[in-house]
Amino acid sequence: MLQTCDVLIVGAGPGGASCAFWLAKLGVSSVVVEKKVFPREKTCGDGLTPRSVHQLEQMGMSGFLQSKHRYHGLRTVALGREMELKWPEHPELPDYGFVVSRYDLDGAVAANAAEAGATILQGAEAVEVERGPGGEAAAVAVRSKDGTTTEYAPRYLVVADGSNSRIGRQLGAVRDRSLPMGLALRGYFNSPLGDDDFIESHLDIRTVDGEVMPGYGWIFPMGDGRVNVGVGILSTLGRWKEVNTTKVMEAFVASAPARWKLDPSDPIYVGTGGKLPMGFAVGPRVGPNFLMVGDAAGAINPFNGEGIAYGYETGRLAAEVIADALALDDPRVLRRYERDLEERYGTYYRAARAFVGLIGHPAIMRAAVGAGIRSKLIMDPVMRVMANLMQDGHNGPAELLYRSGLAVIGAKDRLDPLVKASRDVIGARLSR
Ligand SMILES: Cc1cc2nc3c(=O)[nH]c(=O)nc-3n(C[C@H](O)[C@H](O)[C@H](O)COP(=O)(O)OP(=O)(O)OC[C@H]3O[C@@H](n4cnc5c(N)ncnc54)[C@H](O)[C@@H]3O)c2cc1C
Repeated sequence: MLQTCDVLIVGAGPGGASCAFWLAKLGVSSVVVEKKVFPREKTCGDGLTPRSVHQLEQMGMSGFLQSKHRYHGLRTVALGREMELKWPEHPELPDYGFVVSRYDLDGAVAANAAEAGATILQGAEAVEVERGPGGEAAAVAVRSKDGTTTEYAPRYLVVADGSNSRIGRQLGAVRDRSLPMGLALRGYFNSPLGDDDFIESHLDIRTVDGEVMPGYGWIFPMGDGRVNVGVGILSTLGRWKEVNTTKVMEAFVASAPARWKLDPSDPIYVGTGGKLPMGFAVGPRVGPNFLMVGDAAGAINPFNGEGIAYGYETGRLAAEVIADALALDDPRVLRRYERDLEERYGTYYRAARAFVGLIGHPAIMRAAVGAGIRSKLIMDPVMRVMANLMQDGHNGPAELLYRSGLAVIGAKDRLDPLVKASRDVIGARLSR
């Protein structure tokens, strides 16, 4: 059976659902195939920052968020000190976030896209892409739960199938292994502080040898008596693949502040992990008639591991480009997507990649955390830069810090070989 459609979207996570919603708003019909059936679990910290909330509100989801757990900032913890940083006031973005389980969130965002006019097919897995003579995605085989296979011949294909991106790989997308990548593990625990007003981030997670690692541990209150607890580490730590994240998680839970009352034998705890492709390390992201969005494009922010907002944002950018390509009947318009990504994220993500490269050196990580945790004057702008909450044309401390950081990057590039050599030596010691 061969079906034609204007746009086929593979995956109904943040990237796919947002793309479908914005296409519908632009008058373009799309078919979204999602291999799972909502509600479904997705391994995540469940943290929605002001950037994510802004996108959800723009998609008309304020009502859905109203019943969810709203929080007002980030508590950073390191080296025995704590600091509460409220989300800043911003002309566009809200000064609050939410913690919402992906079990609840993703189905609701997909249903919102369906209400706007998109067709969402659940339990439908894209299994194979057939390429045409010009390298275009000519046909996509989609297998349903009942075992039937339907071939779609879309004019445009959006790859939104997440970090493993099987369909992206079939279309030739690869991750640049020289760029940073994250690995994270999370699980739920019962806690008396399940409705705390701050999400908490621990900047001094350690190896079993007690060495501070590049990455962080988190405790995010869910508002329902549970907290989402996790650890994320960065590949900029030498020989990071040999680090046992389950052990890092155990150590983190054991050392978490007693007020959370985390119990390692909590029956609701099941640790599940995932990869965080970041800094647009995956490419190419544009083909003759296809685009990659969200994790399939490696869109996670390397500064903080946040990917939901960037799924929504890149899905929306892809929708705008495809709508124009259809209106002009010219697939070459798709190339604009790469330019849009560069314009919006290029410099910021290069800065983020340089930053995570630097903190891959444990001594630099220790020094940075030690300096930051002592002063709100330092930590507040750092938090704004890392959560990408700066304001265009503004000259506040965060914007000035960011601009000075950019100036340092040039110098850092010249230092890179030295930093890498010493990191490898220390990484070898840590992984023993
Ligand atoms: C442990 C962990 C914690 C994290 N914590 C946070 C956090 O607190 N805040 C945050 O902002 N980000 C967080 N992230 C990152 C965030 O989860 C991702 O960046 C985000 O989910 C990316 O959205 P996406 O739509 O690109 O992909 P996904 O959310 O992975 O969605 C992809 C969808 O495609 C479907 N799919 C896959 N293959 C196919 C196929 N062949 N056919 C049909 N459907 C398919 C999947 O079932 C899935 O529904 C975390 C990640 C991890 C691993």
